Amino acid sequence: QRKSSFATVSPYTGDTLAEFPQIEGEEVDSALETAGHAFDAWRKRPIGERAAVLGRAAELMRERREPLAQLLTQEMGKLISEARGEVDLAASILSYYAEHGPAFAADEPLDVEEGEAYLVNEPLGVLLGVMPWNFPYYQVVRFAGPNVVVGNTVLVKHAGICPQSALALETLFRDAGAPEGVYTNLFVSHDEVSRIIDSPVVRGASLTGSERAGAQVAERAGRNMKPSLLELGGSDVFIVLDGEGLERTVGAAVAGRMANTGQSCVASKRFIVLEDVYDDFVAGMRRAFEALEPGDPSDEATTLGPLSSEQAAADLADQIRETVDQGAELVIGGGRIDRPGAFVEPTILTGVKPGMRAYAEELFGPAAVIYRVADEDEAIALANDSQYGLGGSVFCSDVDRARRVAERVETGMIWINHPTSTQADLPFGGIKRSGYGRELSKLGMREFVNRKLVRVL
Ligand code: NAP
Repeated sequence: QRKSSFATVSPYTGDTLAEFPQIEGEEVDSALETAGHAFDAWRKRPIGERAAVLGRAAELMRERREPLAQLLTQEMGKLISEARGEVDLAASILSYYAEHGPAFAADEPLDVEEGEAYLVNEPLGVLLGVMPWNFPYYQVVRFAGPNVVVGNTVLVKHAGICPQSALALETLFRDAGAPEGVYTNLFVSHDEVSRIIDSPVVRGASLTGSERAGAQVAERAGRNMKPSLLELGGSDVFIVLDGEGLERTVGAAVAGRMANTGQSCVASKRFIVLEDVYDDFVAGMRRAFEALEPGDPSDEATTLGPLSSEQAAADLADQIRETVDQGAELVIGGGRIDRPGAFVEPTILTGVKPGMRAYAEELFGPAAVIYRVADEDEAIALANDSQYGLGGSVFCSDVDRARRVAERVETGMIWINHPTSTQADLPFGGIKRSGYGRELSKLGMREFVNRKLVRVL
């Protein structure tokens, strides 16, 4: 059970391993002041120097790969191999902005008939980032990386369950040469988050997390007329149009659902399968789910880790149970695994209909919903009957057919013949209740800048 608001509680053993005090009031005000002063100096530094700090942070991240990965496994139960993968991904993002950030921030000439006009990308100031626990390094660096290079300074309010990962990032930036106040970790309450957004020092807010938290942070930012960016939940579709290479498609489906023990915003969550492939697809998924072995996430042989917390496991088990009570069928799984730790059985639900919990809600864990549809039109209608619009994928041996279907799916991202994924040079973000704005790529650098027009006549 969580004792303090910022504590490491192993989801594998249930033990509380570390606790950290929150700060409030004057201590927060003083951090805001430091970040404000840091901004005044940081924005004046040549962008090459700012990029060099990020490059050094990437190097340090690679040097510290093993201890950084172990922290993720300890705090939120990520399988150790996936934890190493996250460190590599985060380092690649830091390197990417160190290399390309200066060009992305360069002045942009405008095509005008008379005189001269161009845009200058100026930093806005101190930004607040509110971050989730599911990818404790990746989520933060995709916010902090571009902003630190472009000249903003950042305050990070990380999730309560990964405080050591949060501190490791602050240390990383400091060791890389970021002056005090350029990157500040804050162990603060939700109320303090509101007060921070109200502060005149803060010029924008970015949140990755749930819709509820996103709505509150965006509402507060809106009230203060400050820009916000929201990366929220998703219920990505995985549409299967034909059975060619089915084994590979099933492999992708299992990876798309099970990566990070299913706790990814862009995990494949709704599998929509044309009827002539449906039975074989369900059988393939079932076999793969049956083969998963729960165990210690720090053991390389483990293929199914615990969820991030006891609460997360209990919530997912409730969603599954209630959906079954509402009339859905269980192909496999259905509840908690009978052992200590925050484990949920790999679960497949079919016969899910509008009105059932799993139809509309995001399932944040190892539970897949598989739908049988008659044709493409039915697949698309079902895909779009969602409040979410984050990512999605379409599988078909005929890529042009897949492209036509992909164009009709209402999301911010769609992948063909691969589950939704992320990399430093591709934009990331959603529409509808999955949020707004984009992170990563050149677009990620343009969210919290003043694209100032300079006109010369
Ligand atoms: P969450 O409860 O919203 O937590 C995310 C962050 O917001 C945490 O730091 C949390 O702090 C903070 N927070 C929560 N309520 C707040 C409030 N009222 N005011 C200020 N801050 C608040 O999210 P979660 O359930 O842990 O994370 C999973 C969700 O994030 C899923 O829906 C997932 O799909 C989504 N997600 C989206 C993306 C994306 O890129 N679109 C990426 C990853 C995850 P505490 O921890 O202290 O409560």
